[in-house]
Amino acid sequence: MPNTEKFYKDGLRFECQGSGKCCTSHGEFGFVFLTPEDRRRFADHLKITTRDFTMKYCDRTNGVWHLKEDPKNPDCMFLEGKRCGVYKARPSQCRTWPFWKEVMNAKSWAKDVAAFCPGVGKGKLWSEKEIDSVLAAENASEKRLGK
Ligand code: SF4
Repeated sequence: MPNTEKFYKDGLRFECQGSGKCCTSHGEFGFVFLTPEDRRRFADHLKITTRDFTMKYCDRTNGVWHLKEDPKNPDCMFLEGKRCGVYKARPSQCRTWPFWKEVMNAKSWAKDVAAFCPGVGKGKLWSEKEIDSVLAAENASEKRLGK
């Protein structure tokens, strides 16, 4: 019988420490992908049309929209100092960090995420149920990405 017990069954502590690390040099975590809702939310926030937002700030890779990246500066273009300059309108991908399905296994969490993100192990204890609901939201937005 497969072991279905999740490594986060007792919850995980995470609270953003404002390091800005997840917004700089995404490295192996890749692009900031954008669902249609993300692009609309950004456009509303910036008081421009979704089309203008897409033309000015987005690129498409393998059919999936993401924020443009400057090869000379891998920081997100919306990072201001160590803070997100569009926090209220930040995309789903940024809202669901660090509970991404790719890293939701004990090994990746301990080795990659904890080493990368200073918020891991600090502050709020996220219950299994809360983490599962973040993962469900992430799955739903991935479907809308068309990956
Ligand atoms: S949109 Fe905001 S939270 Fe997301 S990577 Fe850019 S600066 Fe960071």
